[in-house]
Amino acid sequence: MPMPVNAAVLTKPGQSLELRPVLLDDPLETEVTVRTVAAGLCHSDLHYLDGSLDMDLPAILGHEVFGIVERIGDAVTRLKIGDRVVATVTPACGVCNQCLAGRPTQCRRVDEMRARSRPKFTTTDGEPIGALGGIGAFAEAFVTGESSLALVDDAVPANVACLLGCCITTGVGAAVHGAHIGAEDTVVVIGCGGVGIAAVQGARLAGARKIVAVDALSPKLDLARRFGATHTVLAQADQEETLALLREIEPDGFTNTIEAVGRTTTAELAFDALAPSGTATILGLMTGGSRINISADALVYGDRRIQGAYMGANRFLSDVEMFTDHYAAGRLDLDGMVTRTIPFTWINEGFAAMSDPTTIRVVVEFEGENA
Ligand SMILES: [Zn+2]
Ligand SMILES: [Zn+2]
Repeated sequence: MPMPVNAAVLTKPGQSLELRPVLLDDPLETEVTVRTVAAGLCHSDLHYLDGSLDMDLPAILGHEVFGIVERIGDAVTRLKIGDRVVATVTPACGVCNQCLAGRPTQCRRVDEMRARSRPKFTTTDGEPIGALGGIGAFAEAFVTGESSLALVDDAVPANVACLLGCCITTGVGAAVHGAHIGAEDTVVVIGCGGVGIAAVQGARLAGARKIVAVDALSPKLDLARRFGATHTVLAQADQEETLALLREIEPDGFTNTIEAVGRTTTAELAFDALAPSGTATILGLMTGGSRINISADALVYGDRRIQGAYMGANRFLSDVEMFTDHYAAGRLDLDGMVTRTIPFTWINEGFAAMSDPTTIRVVVEFEGENA
């Protein structure tokens, strides 16, 4: 029987989310119903909200989420009712060529795993409502595949655990799995939002000797220093000037750059700032059809590389364990990344607060884990 839950529904880009009751379907065989406890407001959600990224509407956004397993399908084997879990938008089948090659974020069977004969969410009149990333976390409960969920240790509180699902996975993952940063590396992180700050932390965790944070807003640079940046550069209107400031720090260029903005120009800056044989890792999601313009000479003569690392090239289940150990040991600061925790019903105010440059993450909380 479909279950009534309160949700924040996006009906039209540019408008506030509408808080209203919807119906949530039962879990299918390999699915799990999760009671939502805490969900982070991510810039990707904001891009759908303001219409800069496209999706079918109405829909329930939200993909960075922690909750408690409430129901399981008959074929679920790894999770049980009462488990503490965090969700990812990159489920992996484990048996396709990409999964077998150790690249689960490029799983070829994601659509197949998400396929469903009926919608997860509907209006109370039975009209379908979409769910972002096969999740739809801005609801009191959601249904997703078992392979989209990782167990979370009791050591990680709910309102910080949700960050493991997107911004930490993407930013720390980019440094560790994407860029393979080590003690010899000099790193530039372009863009100091949640993902950028997580990339700064990832570079610090991985032992980089220099970590330069770049952003157009100076309060964000102050934040980046708190999380491990050794140098900061205020991005200039003329990108050549930004590049010149970076050259003052490393005249020969950097071994690694990580782009966490999602613009072609910052991706080009990431490439231009590289030393010979350096690697630019591009994380930001760009408007469909975008193309990046780089120097063929710098690429070919200088052995430079430019690569994607979608969702931090994560290995979600084991990454959550890795992040938890670093968090417990004090090497990964999750608490400091949650600027504000607010009740779910304030979600529209939460999105408005994201424009404040001192905000890293706003988290909406539902009833609370022990309610
Ligand atoms: Zn996200
Ligand atoms: Zn696969």
